[in-house]
Amino acid sequence: MGFPTQRLRRLRQNEAIRGLVRENKLSASSFILPLFVVPGSAVKEEIAALPGNYHLSIDCLIEEAVAVRDLGIPAVLLFGVPETKDEQASGSYSPNGIVQEAVRALKSKVPGMLVVTDVCPCEYTTSGHCGLMRNGYLDNDSSLELIAKITLSHAEAGSDIVAPAAMLDGQIHTMRQALDSRGFHNLPIMAYAAKFASKLYDPFFKEGTHSTLKFGNKQTHQMDFSNSNEAMREIALDIEEGADIVMVKPALFYLDIVYRAKQEFQMPLAVYDVSGEYAMIDAAARLGRLDRDAIMLEALTCMKRAGADIIITYFAKRAAELLRGK
Ligand SMILES: [Zn+2]
Repeated sequence: MGFPTQRLRRLRQNEAIRGLVRENKLSASSFILPLFVVPGSAVKEEIAALPGNYHLSIDCLIEEAVAVRDLGIPAVLLFGVPETKDEQASGSYSPNGIVQEAVRALKSKVPGMLVVTDVCPCEYTTSGHCGLMRNGYLDNDSSLELIAKITLSHAEAGSDIVAPAAMLDGQIHTMRQALDSRGFHNLPIMAYAAKFASKLYDPFFKEGTHSTLKFGNKQTHQMDFSNSNEAMREIALDIEEGADIVMVKPALFYLDIVYRAKQEFQMPLAVYDVSGEYAMIDAAARLGRLDRDAIMLEALTCMKRAGADIIITYFAKRAAELLRGK
């Protein structure tokens, strides 16, 4: 029984009807805003590739987090930009490291805000690589020991969710064991489970964390963007090792992976709408080619439709403002 009995346009006549039957609705309660913390005080410098996002010293980070919380965004994801780096990434697990200090400050000054911490050494190594290098190759098992140290330092500082980003084999197992052995049984792990070796991260490394690679590439640990079955194997292993939330990164070019991950695993699923995605939309809007706000909401809604429960995005504040107006 098709046309003329069936007319799908009946339910598209006006916004009220469209709203009633809308399948996926965006909400600020799904957002996590990445924040970049730097040494010093009274520092709030806009990141050129990510307009509306800043390098923040801890005092300014607190102000920003209060504004974020007031917009109904429940969580921030912290990245540290340390004063100095070394081969061993010793700043990454120091109890007085930039992220550890920031976590303590946020937990005491901005109650109710969830603080997620990125567990990866690459902001702290002189090479810019995600662990310890041996003969030009990222050494897996010695880097796992480093990951365990970083994880525990974040847990002790008060992190609410630890988010390992290095794509090392066995990192979730290593972290879960380390956490449980020190009594952090209830600290969730959000695993960057299917993280692809993407050029969409360039603005983040060049301008966000100043951790562009000194040599080589990340293709020996991050995934080949040609692969989908392998992404499912990565996610399955992370779940087996104890991940509580799994993530696909980047988001927009990878919505087939997001959809497949949700269908196959029915796990809490995060996507990371990365710096290059933000920069593309922002640049096109500046050229007058795209409507920034409209495209932002379309992109974020499509991530939800594909299956994302959680959206990590540099658009979080503006999107929350727009949603509040609706
Ligand atoms: Zn890394």
